Amino acid sequence: MPVSSTSLIHHPYTPPEGFAAPQPGVFKASTVYFPNVAAMRHFEWKDKTAYTYGLHGTPTTYTLEERLCTLEGGHQCLLVPSGLAAIATVALALLKSGDEVLIPDNAYGPNKALAEGELARWGITHRFYDSMQPQDLADKIGPQTRLVWLEAAGSVTLEFPDLVAQVHICKAAGVLCALDNTWGAGLAFQPFDLQPGLQPAVSVDISTHALTKYPSGGGDVLMGSIITTDERLHMKIKLCHMRLGLGVAANDAEAVLRSLPSLVLRYKAHDETTRALAHWSLNRSEFAQVLHPALPDSPGHLHWQQLCKMGPGGAAGLFSVIFQPEYSQAQVDAFCDALVLFKIGYSWGGPVSLVMPYALSTMRSHWPAHLRPGTLVRFSIGLEDVDDLRADLDQALRVLR
Ligand SMILES: *Cc1c(COP(=O)(O)O)cnc(C)c1O
Repeated sequence: MPVSSTSLIHHPYTPPEGFAAPQPGVFKASTVYFPNVAAMRHFEWKDKTAYTYGLHGTPTTYTLEERLCTLEGGHQCLLVPSGLAAIATVALALLKSGDEVLIPDNAYGPNKALAEGELARWGITHRFYDSMQPQDLADKIGPQTRLVWLEAAGSVTLEFPDLVAQVHICKAAGVLCALDNTWGAGLAFQPFDLQPGLQPAVSVDISTHALTKYPSGGGDVLMGSIITTDERLHMKIKLCHMRLGLGVAANDAEAVLRSLPSLVLRYKAHDETTRALAHWSLNRSEFAQVLHPALPDSPGHLHWQQLCKMGPGGAAGLFSVIFQPEYSQAQVDAFCDALVLFKIGYSWGGPVSLVMPYALSTMRSHWPAHLRPGTLVRFSIGLEDVDDLRADLDQALRVLR
């Protein structure tokens, strides 16, 4: 007798209960079974008391969401397919035609591109503000402003803003503020408690996080999160998230769950190596400026110190250098090409160190006064040995001579 398909599909075996192991299980589903029609009618996915459809959550995604809430000090979490999707979902959930969003001029580039592209087409206006001048933010908040993006440190140039002052400005104006918290990762400072001990807490309204970076830690997963502490705000974003059909694959959620236990150790290791290399770079005559928030001369250093020193004191794994203006773009490109351990690539947070030259003049409304002229190169530091990375930088700088 050939085996029947039905007996393979409706197989009677169920494994014993009580399986326990270091990693949580991976539950994959589009369809989720209901025990009966009545249950189907009243099961509620919105408060995570039940399961209704794969897109609405599985034990795997619920588990990851709860752990990420703990990481960032929030109460509710939504998972999306990328860090950029987190930014876009917040914008779509909270803005409508006629509204305005304010974005730091040194924000993650695609956040600005979203405002200039889709949001503009839908009648949502935007303005870019100087993250290093709180008064500029205060001046730009107008009657149509509904959302302010914050980012610390700034993308590529790593200026550290006065986040506390910025949050106070948004609260005073009654405007929601969302922080792109990818750099801080929940470890450098606490986005929902910026001045620990103060009551009421000084808190952003929303924290988005490119889990692609440190929480994934492997350079092999794209994912984002949207974390809040206000149930009504969360529900507004959650309904938009559901209607847009956003979800993440269980295997990707599992990859992040597997990496989370080592997050604190990895972040510290990235941080330590990065500081050592940034300090070493200060003494290299090829560089006109070294940008890293923990360096005393880096823009916003005191704000970094005030915010991050109260917490665990982290500074992530990024630093940038501006080459002396006498070096041409071609020479700086040759320096990047000469690096062996540093690979040329976007993103960060994985084990491999990366390098990327940026054409800053095309990325900012104007060249910031606090930055020296010259070609900018950003390094994202992986988990290699610091001596090997230093030697690699040293040998690559020889192409400039
Ligand atoms: C990488 C990054 C993002 C986007 O993350 P993706 O998962 O690559 O879309 C958003 N914000 C910051 C600050 C980032 O570094």
